[in-house]
Amino acid sequence: MKLEKINQSSGIAVREEGLFVNGEMRAAVSGATFDDFNPTTGELYARVADAGVEDASMAIEAAQAATRTWQQLTGSERENVLWRAASALEEQSEEFVEVLIDEAGSTVSKARSEVSKSVDLVRAAAGDVRRVEGKTTPSAKCSFSIRQPVGVVVAITPWNVPLTLAAKKVALGLSTGNTLVLKPSPLAPVIAVMLGRVFDEAGLPPGALNVIPGPGKPLGDLFVAHPDVKAITFTGSTATGKYLAGGAAANLKRFGLELGGKNPAIVLRDADLERAAQAIVFSAFYHSGQNCMAASRVIVEGPCYEEMVERLGSRASNLKVGDPRSPETHLGPIINDEQLQRVHRLVTDSINAGARLVCGGTPDPPFYPATVVADVRPGMSLFEEETFGPVAAVIQAEDAADALQLANNSRYGLSAGIFTRDIQKGLKLAQQLEVGMVHINDSPTYTEPTVPFGGVKESGYGREGTGGWAWQEMTESKWITVLLEEKQFPF
Ligand code: NAD
Repeated sequence: MKLEKINQSSGIAVREEGLFVNGEMRAAVSGATFDDFNPTTGELYARVADAGVEDASMAIEAAQAATRTWQQLTGSERENVLWRAASALEEQSEEFVEVLIDEAGSTVSKARSEVSKSVDLVRAAAGDVRRVEGKTTPSAKCSFSIRQPVGVVVAITPWNVPLTLAAKKVALGLSTGNTLVLKPSPLAPVIAVMLGRVFDEAGLPPGALNVIPGPGKPLGDLFVAHPDVKAITFTGSTATGKYLAGGAAANLKRFGLELGGKNPAIVLRDADLERAAQAIVFSAFYHSGQNCMAASRVIVEGPCYEEMVERLGSRASNLKVGDPRSPETHLGPIINDEQLQRVHRLVTDSINAGARLVCGGTPDPPFYPATVVADVRPGMSLFEEETFGPVAAVIQAEDAADALQLANNSRYGLSAGIFTRDIQKGLKLAQQLEVGMVHINDSPTYTEPTVPFGGVKESGYGREGTGGWAWQEMTESKWITVLLEEKQFPF
């Protein structure tokens, strides 16, 4: 039933991909498709079935129908499905790597690490299946609470880390006993449909995972209003998150938001500058800065400011930009021209406002070089706006207190790095930083499956992670009591 095939028209291999609904590949009800381009070559990569409201309704119906089947399996059976899915993904890793390169412009090393992280995540979630715990409460009665699946969860994912983010939501949803409708970004739909097939091969009951590539609107409006959708887990931009959160609130839907970031990396005067520069350069330029945890504001204490600017500039200038298939490439393409122009505008606006270009800054579409801009200050666009491109904005701080104030001077609050040899100072700063995640002497771009991943302020709310972190979003607690002794009622 696979729609996947290679179309050799015009000498270019164009893949065709369908929707994955109720365990089957199918075309959209309308017959519509949309084009998925390779960001490096600009060529058409895939023609993908374009889900409309009717398709989304069918996917929700299939997920709703599958809740009983999925929940009636024993914990051991469900755990095995997740384990088999992880193994199938691992076995097919090279195929997934290829798609991540062609569809999302990932470099070879980013694509490989994304696949292995996804395998690890699904395995970690498998371990959760039999650990969803309730609580007993001290009471004159027998009083306890159990956690139950919410039912149908809609997962909406972005294009930048399209496999890991989808695998995470799917694995967390399934491990807590829910069924899912996954709506991936139209910029990276193929990888998500492939993930759906992997779970199918692993023995997931039909309908327990449905993948429907399509536009945000009007599908988002359907999701927030549909009575059978019990929770929405969203990763993407703050603007889209805010829009959907409004609809979700109006319909009292459970809603988790993993949004944008303007992540600070604080370098204190006693830091190991070489180590700090290495970690910051990795974070700022990983996947060409198109990572939500990118160290895009480097806040450096005065005495080591110029030395740090120099170290960052020299490391960034040595990064290779170009064909993501070449194993030597550090920075592949920017996802599309609109985003590339936006990145360049943020750089030029800041330079026009008095910032200093240290290296990079000249676009070579579809590539943008590793760029370091120094003397950035609050109010400049590189200080305020999420860049989502390969730009490290360096900001001078008078002292640690000023660094903290500058770091917290942001509407975002996702991840941060602090570089210091004084761990006490580092821990104190970590407690005061208005972010969801802080790494002392490491890159802000860091995650593990079992952690409370998430942000504060306009970086979102809710936490994603195995070991109970996702239970708030993905389960309902139910309080149950048993009367143990005869009770006297007032009337
Ligand atoms: P986006 O908000 O444009 O799109 C994200 C998803 O939302 C896509 O699937 C898109 O089709 C869908 N969408 C758009 N409008 C919608 C609507 N009205 N209703 C329902 N769905 C809708 O974001 P993007 O450009 O794909 O991704 C980049 C953004 O994602 C950046 O801001 C980045 O920081 C953020 N991000 C955050 C995390 C995190 O964990 N915090 C991780 C990765 C990316």
